[in-house]
Amino acid sequence: MSTSTPENDQSQLPDLGDPSVVTDDQWRERLTPQEYHVLREGGTEPAFTGEYTDNKAAGTYSCRACGTKLFTSDTKFDSQCGWPSFYQPLAKDSVVYIEDSSLGRVRTEVRCAACDGHLGHVFEGEGYGTPTDQRYCINSISVNFE
Ligand SMILES: [Zn+2]
Repeated sequence: MSTSTPENDQSQLPDLGDPSVVTDDQWRERLTPQEYHVLREGGTEPAFTGEYTDNKAAGTYSCRACGTKLFTSDTKFDSQCGWPSFYQPLAKDSVVYIEDSSLGRVRTEVRCAACDGHLGHVFEGEGYGTPTDQRYCINSISVNFE
């Protein structure tokens, strides 16, 4: 049974320890139903609804589930796609890639390397003119900005 509400402050929760061994019940306890759906079930928040889509402030985006630093504002760009977009992760090994054919075409899913939480997808060769020509299309609800 979960008592989580959208107002829960994740930072008040006790330290996770090793996020890779957190059980499903523990995730349900730590995350709001919306966060759980995206991070643990690979859901996608509706376009243009996320709190960080148009955030241009300088700072760091960390995994909302486990706190690992994942992206910085330096690599965020305005893609007009409706989700926060980055052209590269903070560190190469902070994310892992998984082939996702759930929509009938192959996309590359991006997950947090520490807790296996779903973050979004990465696309490349779209011509955005960024240094990597990649777009990490990340759900706002999967990250925290500071
Ligand atoms: Zn994580």
